[in-house]
Order: sequence, then C-alpha cells, then structure tokens
Amino acid sequence: MPEIVVAARSVSKSFGSGAGAVKALDDVSVDIFQNEFFTMLGPSGCGKTTLLRLIGGFEQATSGEILLEGAALQDLPPYKRPINTVFQSYALFPHLTVRQNITFGLEMKGIDRKQANARADEMLELVQLAQYGDRSPSQLSGGQQQRIALARALAPAPKVLLLDEPLSALDLKLRKEMQIELKRLQTETGITFVFVTHDQEEALAMSDRIAVMQAGHILQIGAPREIYEQPTHRFVADFIGESNFLTGELLTSAQGDLMLRVDGVGDVSLGDATTAPQKSGQVTVSIRPERLSLGPAGEPKEVRLEGRVAGVVYIGTDTAYHIELGGGQQSLRVRMQNSAGNADARNETRNFAKGAPVSVTIPADAARVLVD
Ligand code: ADP
Ligand code: MG
Repeated sequence: MPEIVVAARSVSKSFGSGAGAVKALDDVSVDIFQNEFFTMLGPSGCGKTTLLRLIGGFEQATSGEILLEGAALQDLPPYKRPINTVFQSYALFPHLTVRQNITFGLEMKGIDRKQANARADEMLELVQLAQYGDRSPSQLSGGQQQRIALARALAPAPKVLLLDEPLSALDLKLRKEMQIELKRLQTETGITFVFVTHDQEEALAMSDRIAVMQAGHILQIGAPREIYEQPTHRFVADFIGESNFLTGELLTSAQGDLMLRVDGVGDVSLGDATTAPQKSGQVTVSIRPERLSLGPAGEPKEVRLEGRVAGVVYIGTDTAYHIELGGGQQSLRVRMQNSAGNADARNETRNFAKGAPVSVTIPADAARVLVD
C-alpha cells in the first residue's frame, strides 16, 4: 500500500448560516498518496478550492478532519504546515528580483542568506530559468513568471504542493507546455501535487489519479483510464469525454449475461458489463461513442441494435454518426476512425449515409451500468 500523505475524513464545510448557508463540501473523504499527482476535477463552484484551502489551513472544516501523515491538522496554522500553494495569479513581488522572490520565504523561515541563495539557484535550475535570477519579474513572460512561482513554492521542499488552477491564465499552447513541465517537476522532486482544474483534458493528461467532484461531493476517484472507461455516475461519464446513455430495464439472461431491455427499442446483451452493486430494474447505461461500430441492417445478433442514420458529421480524424433507435425513442452517437488507406472506412461512409438503416454493435465490455 502506498503511504497516505493527506487524508480528508468525512469533511463538510458550510459558509454562512440559516437559509443563506452554502454547503461547499458535503461529507468528503479522500486519501492522497505519497509522490502522487492527484487532481480534483469538477465544474466551477463544486468545492475544489474549498477543499484545497482546508488542506492548506486557510479554512476550518465545519465537521470532519484533515490529516497529514495520520495527524490531525486543525490546530496548525498554514505557515506551520509542510504544505505550499501555487495560485492562478503568480503574485510575484514586483520590486524584488526573481532570485529574491524565491529566497524571501526561505529567509522568513530562518534560513541564512547564503543557503537561501544557493537553494534559489537550485530551484531556478530545476525550472530551467537559471540565467534569470537577477531580472525583475516584469521582464519575464507569463509562462516564465508561473515557473518562478513554482520554484518559489517548491524551494522549502514542502511535503505537499497545492495548485489551484495554476495554468488557466495561460494561452493554450503555453498551457500544454506547462502541463508537461508540471508533470516533470512533480516526478523529479517526488513531492505530492494536489492539483485543481475544471479542464478534463488537463486532468487526464497529467494525473496519476483524479477525484471527480460535483456540488460538494466526490463522485469517483481513479486513474485517468479508469475514470474514462469505467465511469460510475452519469455526471462523470458526461463531464469527461463524450458519452452515450441508454435507459432500460436490466435483466439477466438464461446464460447469466446481463441484458438491457432498451426502452422503446429492444433487447441487447451487455456481456459482462460491470454493474453498480445490486442494480436491477430501470437503469442508465453509458457507452463511449468510439466503442460502437456500424454494420449493415438486418443481421440480427444479440449484441446489436437496429437503427437509422439521422446525421453524419465528418470531423477529420473521425466521422461521427447520429443513430436513431426505435424510431427516435433513443439515440446513439457512433465515432468511427477515418484511416486514409482503409477501403472499408470509405465504403462505410458511402453506405452509412443519412437515412440508411444500420445495426449498431455494442462490444461485450463497452457498456457501464451507472449508479445514477
Ligand atoms: P470551485 O473552486 O470548485 O469553483 P469553491 O470551492 O470556490 O468552488 O466554492 C464552492 C461553493 O462554496 C460555491 O457555491 C461558492 O460560492 C461557495 N463559497 C466558497 N467560498 C465562500 C465564502 N468564503 N463565502 C461564501 N460562499 C463561499
Ligand atoms: Mg476554485
């Protein structure tokens, strides 16, 4: 078992009181491991910053507790925690040089100037800005300033670095570069990074594990692949990537396979679709569009559903098909790759024109029965 560095135990946080109270976090529990790039992902207002501020010690939980290496933290003020924070705004001191921006916090901690300077140069080396120590922050680009902010936060060698949407002020190209840079810094320093973002692509690209949050709750925690391929909740499947949802009655076939009696459409086998505990009766199932494929109509097989092409959108790498099932009772999006040399793909594009009857194949492990 990896060592747990930060833990939240049944943490709730309310702001205000009475009718105007806002419950920013509702019974949140999570373990964050040593040396991990951990991301909290969710839409604006779901409680990400609040959870980060509780870990940093800038807020107190209404109930529950935050532990650092097993010890309760509530009586420890922020500056005494071995935890540092990088905010979206770099907040560099404009009247200090780049090096002084880094040594300032170290000297506050009682480290002598010589040692602080040596550490600052080490950090500037780490963020690949070794020759910029004597400059003023205003002489640096946005991306360089963000790296200085990182160097400053890493300089005291905290156990945990909290990062609250630190890349959202950067333009797309720079953001992509900084994603790689942040991941490298985390790997090289071995410090636990707790990263907050509302950007699902960013979360998938950088994280060892992701906690998906909605309205003060953590819905699912898992590795990027797990979150994408095995979403437990409709919200998760919808927020991350693109998803199809089918509703129907969940049945077990004579062979013990799961079957979905799709509302208004017909029966389809879900193979060994993982199902939420004790789920039966009316359910929602999610299926990623790229897992589905189209074939000619009229080849009945138990893993197929018959439908009609309602729309075809060419998007370069793929073609997206909008398929109506049961005369429009339900619908599916199917994505098929356009590989240039693939005669089949060209052929399919011809055959699966708007209005054509088709069958949609659902591979045995592609469907997920959702908790809700
Ligand atoms: P996120 O970072 O995911 O966008 P926040 O943690 O900032 O979300 O906020 C969660 C909820 O708590 C929101 O409804 C927000 O308005 C509310 N909230 C956050 N901080 C305060 C505060 N200091 N006073 C009142 N409400 C707050
Ligand atoms: Mg926030």
